[in-house]
Amino acid sequence: QAHLDRIAAVDGAVHAFLHVNDAALESAADVDRRRAAGEELGPLAGVPIAIKDVLVTTGMPSTSGSRILEGWIPPYDATPVRKVREAGMVPLGKTNMDEFAMGSSTEHSAYGPTHNPWDLERIPGGSGGGSAAAVAAFEAPLALGSDTGGSIRQPAHVTGTVGTKPTYGGVSRYGSIALASSLDQVGPVSRTVLDAALLHDVIAGHDPHDQTSIPDPWPSMAEAVRNADVSGLRIGVVKELDSDGFQSGVRQRFHEALELLAANGAEIVEVGAPNFEYAIAAYYLILPAEASSNLAKFDSVRFGLRVVPEGGGTVEEVMAATREAGFGPEVKRRIILGTYALSAGYYDAYYGSAQKVRTLVQQDFASAFDRVDVLATPTAPTTAFRLGEKLDDPLAMYLNDVATIPANLAGVPGISVPAGLAPEDGLPVGVQFLAPAREDARLYNVGGALE
Ligand code: GLN
Repeated sequence: QAHLDRIAAVDGAVHAFLHVNDAALESAADVDRRRAAGEELGPLAGVPIAIKDVLVTTGMPSTSGSRILEGWIPPYDATPVRKVREAGMVPLGKTNMDEFAMGSSTEHSAYGPTHNPWDLERIPGGSGGGSAAAVAAFEAPLALGSDTGGSIRQPAHVTGTVGTKPTYGGVSRYGSIALASSLDQVGPVSRTVLDAALLHDVIAGHDPHDQTSIPDPWPSMAEAVRNADVSGLRIGVVKELDSDGFQSGVRQRFHEALELLAANGAEIVEVGAPNFEYAIAAYYLILPAEASSNLAKFDSVRFGLRVVPEGGGTVEEVMAATREAGFGPEVKRRIILGTYALSAGYYDAYYGSAQKVRTLVQQDFASAFDRVDVLATPTAPTTAFRLGEKLDDPLAMYLNDVATIPANLAGVPGISVPAGLAPEDGLPVGVQFLAPAREDARLYNVGGALE
């Protein structure tokens, strides 16, 4: 009830939620009944949670921020949603996001932007700005996000929250409305590293519904936080992401975090990742290519919106009218880019080259992790920018993802942890840690040491 009251009080200004769960109190009562009946519930039982609208949910709309899915109520729960319900967590509602998770500011939502609780004139990051803002504004203690190129970590950075992108395959993608299937990963958003770890433990694990799901069991992330110890840990600073391209206060807080870790016994070394500079270019070919294919299913027949031209039309005309009305400009831009990149005659030049760059980025990670246990970077180049500032400049928007995209291309896990406020503007700054695939616990060890 306290969280519902808080939502009622502040969400008019923040607009983190697209839908508030009218059955929240009922599910809370249900948790009490399960507990009274002797069911063993985990440490998060009874804790409310906000859910990014990219995840399908029974009983609540799931739009992925798009008009084309307006009013659609899915017939099943995404696996991470099923798991949080089974753990006794109480869904508070669905959070705002850039349409189909394309963006870094939540301004591409078809339902209007979310505002950063630290300064309502500024962006909350994206695509998962709703989840991060809900947690930062104390509307929810925890949230679920999805991260294809930074959509959990970059919003965490600009809202002073914690966000983790797990190892690819660590959390099931079943029921996560696909943006780019080889990059997407669901993960936790929270106010503390321990909270993120507790939620990570709930949602991780094998799922036969996702063919890319890793079958092995995971160690407890919460234990990694509780036993945090960085003495002897080798931390590599990625040289290419520690440059004047980054705002001075962002770099200052980043280096202070490293000093703190060094004071606790970590060894800080510089490492090179020469191919990271091509990661954005490769990502913005691979992502639109996969997205153009994934979004083909919104054909006016199977889901949501159907627009019939006046006087009727053929199947093709209805499909075209529906997609014209149902998709926003960024989604159309990426469908066109992706379709072009995949077309005969261009496939090798664009998609093929991008996949080769992807391999080079993976090799950069492999050689770095031969030398160090984790990598460290600022999470994003600047603190929260003003709403509208980059909306008309897609390239400027894409450049926000320079530090977060490499992890998605390589499938490795990453976390963004608050590192204080930038002195020049008083806005939150995050520091990012990256670990080898399946070594998510290392992120919680380092994050826990900073907390
Ligand atoms: N900003 C990136 C993009 O626009 C990240 C998206 C994401 O992680 N879902 O593609």
